[in-house]
Amino acid sequence: MQLKNKSLLTIALLICSFLNAQDLTFEEYNPPSTLVVPKHIVKKAKYPFIDIHGHQYRMSEQDLSPVIAAMDTLNMGIMVNLSGRSGEILLKSVKNINDHYPNRFVVFANINFDGVGTEIWLENTVNQLEEDVKNGARGLKIYKSLGMRNKDSNGNRLAIDDNRLDAIWSKCGELGIPVLIHAADPKPFWDEFDENNERWLELKTHPRRKRSATNPVSWEQIIKEQHHMFKKHPETNFINAHMGWFANDLGKLAKLMDEMPNMHVEIGAIIAELGRQPRFAKMFFEKYKKRILFGKDSWKPNEFPTYFRVLETDDEYFPYHKKYHAFWAMYGLDLSDEVLKMVYYKNALRLIPGLDKSLFPN
Ligand SMILES: [Zn+2]
Repeated sequence: MQLKNKSLLTIALLICSFLNAQDLTFEEYNPPSTLVVPKHIVKKAKYPFIDIHGHQYRMSEQDLSPVIAAMDTLNMGIMVNLSGRSGEILLKSVKNINDHYPNRFVVFANINFDGVGTEIWLENTVNQLEEDVKNGARGLKIYKSLGMRNKDSNGNRLAIDDNRLDAIWSKCGELGIPVLIHAADPKPFWDEFDENNERWLELKTHPRRKRSATNPVSWEQIIKEQHHMFKKHPETNFINAHMGWFANDLGKLAKLMDEMPNMHVEIGAIIAELGRQPRFAKMFFEKYKKRILFGKDSWKPNEFPTYFRVLETDDEYFPYHKKYHAFWAMYGLDLSDEVLKMVYYKNALRLIPGLDKSLFPN
């Protein structure tokens, strides 16, 4: 009797799991690959590297030792904290760095765009930037709120190429510091939210990321303003975050690189685009090796190995860590040592003033 009950239960469970399998959603369907090919997991980068796109939001007061411990396991020589803010907080962050790990972190300053259009705003902002650089900031970071959310004192959207901001960009050139700028978001956020949208899952799980031609303006408009601003300031070095959202069209990005010799790019959050086109991406890296920098963006140490594996190995069809960025698998670019060294640290050492070169091989 007991045995009979048991087998009935087994059959019932089997039917249940079959029915559940019939109802799997796209999110749930995520089978481990059955493909068996050579594997090279890379937990630590081949060379010490500089993460040009880091965020530590509480650097003025935080204990930096756990961050250093994780950086050491990854072989990260220097983290650039883009969230340095300004004034007193920036000063405190620089002090925290200098007191504990003087050659392992640097901060970039940020700007408060509230009040653009009033007479005093520009003067105050340029003075503050100068003071922040005196106090130790090594660059300026511009968030995507410029071009999207920031408004001038009349309540109008502030365009990235607004003339009233020109003095800031030229000041950075004068001071010899780079400007790392993130503009807009991936283009699919502006596209129809339907079965043809590659970021469908991201828009489903993060519906507030959806944009339209009037919210606030088209993607093309924001990107055009950014490029126009780069062109207006050839004496200033710009680092376009996330490859300027052209990592999925490297032919187009190559044209832009040729048009704007003062534009550099970093690879934060777009490694999945590179990992699906290993041969074309490798050619791009070889051609523009002096203008590509390593960046990661969100501070999740366990996600870095995907970056190392894509850049360093020739592995085939391995998983990426976030399905809403990429439901496809990765392939390694197998970059040469020469290119790796440029991307990992040489370009950053050249663009950012005052980094400790002794942490890196020649
Ligand atoms: Zn960022």
